[in-house]
Amino acid sequence: MSTFKAVAIDKTEAGQTVGIRAFDEADLMDGDVTVRVSHSTLNYKDGLAITGKAPVVRRFPMIPGVDLVGTVEASSNPEFKPGDAVVLNGWGLGETHLGAYAEKVRVRGDWLIPLPQGLSPLQAMAIGTAGYTAMLCMMALERHGLRPDRGPAIVTGAVGGVGSVAVALLAKAGWHVIASTGRPEEADYLKGLGAAEILDRSEFSGPSRPLAKERWAAGVDTVGSTTLANVLAMSKYGGAIAACGLAGGMDLPTTVAPFILRNVALLGVDSVMAPKSVRIEAWNRIARELDHDKLAAMTSTIPLDQVLEAGKRIVEGKIKGRVVVEIA
Ligand code: NDP
Repeated sequence: MSTFKAVAIDKTEAGQTVGIRAFDEADLMDGDVTVRVSHSTLNYKDGLAITGKAPVVRRFPMIPGVDLVGTVEASSNPEFKPGDAVVLNGWGLGETHLGAYAEKVRVRGDWLIPLPQGLSPLQAMAIGTAGYTAMLCMMALERHGLRPDRGPAIVTGAVGGVGSVAVALLAKAGWHVIASTGRPEEADYLKGLGAAEILDRSEFSGPSRPLAKERWAAGVDTVGSTTLANVLAMSKYGGAIAACGLAGGMDLPTTVAPFILRNVALLGVDSVMAPKSVRIEAWNRIARELDHDKLAAMTSTIPLDQVLEAGKRIVEGKIKGRVVVEIA
């Protein structure tokens, strides 16, 4: 019987265990396309799955990893044939469906998109869910009618994965980007990605007043909690904040004041169940608009056996930029 190497999360009476082990091909889940994975990546959610810090994993055993790039090995789906280069982000991969930290996956073909032209497999995973979500946030702000002439854009959790890509994308689109971070020592890194100003995240750690001095017209928030509450209270009249994350907490201790007195909008962004047409638009725009040198500057690469350690570090807020996981 054939086996492949994977990170496996198992549940025991004592809690969850996680390690690298051989997985039986017969245990691959239902799907019409089998993919040989070349690279995956590390997102905050993967860290939550690896550490068990939040109930991301919905079945055991589970192979974590929400993103992959690879080559189709077998397919009964008319859209894909052996040899095609494909990308998968989300759809429950690594949560309900055996995921990407594995040499092999079997998935539904309608979850896959072709590797966008102009991106290498490594670059696609340097972008990963984090980068594609940053683009979804920018698209949400644009759909709301916001343009750089309306005022600055704030990015919270700026040194993190979503934050780093959001800084680079917004700056490239002409926004005056204010990067909020708890790591002021990374100011040069953020300026290199295009940030015009650095803001210490301690400004957002306390309770928010209902309204505060107007500072930005747009924002990408990866942190939630008091950070998002303060960011909303400091938004300009008619501004909007795209909220995608909870790195600082799931709560939102705000008032209705920014919404009803300043016409501020809170735009929710989900990447996991986003329709295929939206994904393809986001990926094609990233391929065209994200500066490849900036992507390289925010990316590091690790082998599969270091992903457990890196998963712990990401939930502690210690990962800078994006981490690609090399699988084959
Ligand atoms: P990272 O860990 O790479 O980035 C998160 C950043 O948030 C950190 O680098 C840090 O930035 C900041 N941060 C961490 N802890 C705290 C804290 N306690 N208080 C304030 N700031 C904090 O994660 P990702 O970029 O992968 O993901 C960011 C968030 O977005 C996560 O919550 C993730 O779940 C969410 N997400 C949601 C998606 C969706 O579909 N909605 C898709 C992708 C991600 P700094 O050091 O600069 O302060």
